[in-house]
Amino acid sequence: MRSKPNILVTGTPGTGKTTTSAAVAEATNLRHINIGDLVRDKKLHDGWDDQLECYVINEDLVCDELEEIMEEGGNIVDHHGCDFFPERWFDRVVVLQTENSVLYDRLSKRGYSGAKLTNNIECEIFQVLLEEANDSYPEETVVAMKSDSIDDMNRNVATITDWVRTWRSTA
Ligand code: ADP
Ligand code: MN
Repeated sequence: MRSKPNILVTGTPGTGKTTTSAAVAEATNLRHINIGDLVRDKKLHDGWDDQLECYVINEDLVCDELEEIMEEGGNIVDHHGCDFFPERWFDRVVVLQTENSVLYDRLSKRGYSGAKLTNNIECEIFQVLLEEANDSYPEETVVAMKSDSIDDMNRNVATITDWVRTWRSTA
């Protein structure tokens, strides 16, 4: 039984996972775990994928690395995928969503182009992450949140923060 909740923030790259998670962590003292950074820093991967331009995540290594602190609770995990984490880890799964043209501009600014850019826009259009979350977690755990503007971001941070503060273990 954990005394603080674990939250997963997921969504297509550029939807605001890291910014949102960092703000929630700051307001609540949850531990922000950016899976991309963790994989790079602790080498929890099987090398670099030249085509996708990212590390090939070793999902077993990531889950082993995090098991203990997830049992403890009090984590906000930030990743553009969610189907390989144990379902029991998370009390809330937030799926951030951004309007296509807004996302296009954000990813272009980040230097994405070509296939990498269009793949991510398609991922957002087809709501891939929302479907993955709904396939992987109970319906009442998954919440989609619009992340187009700063107002959206502030509202999402306030909603999640409020939720963390009022959370009580039901286990
Ligand atoms: P992710 O971690 O999902 O890839 P980031 O948090 O790194 O996304 O955000 C990508 C960029 O978009 C950053 O420059 C961030 O400031 C901006 N951004 C993210 N969400 C919003 C939002 N709701 N409104 C305005 N800008 C945003
Ligand atoms: Mn990020």
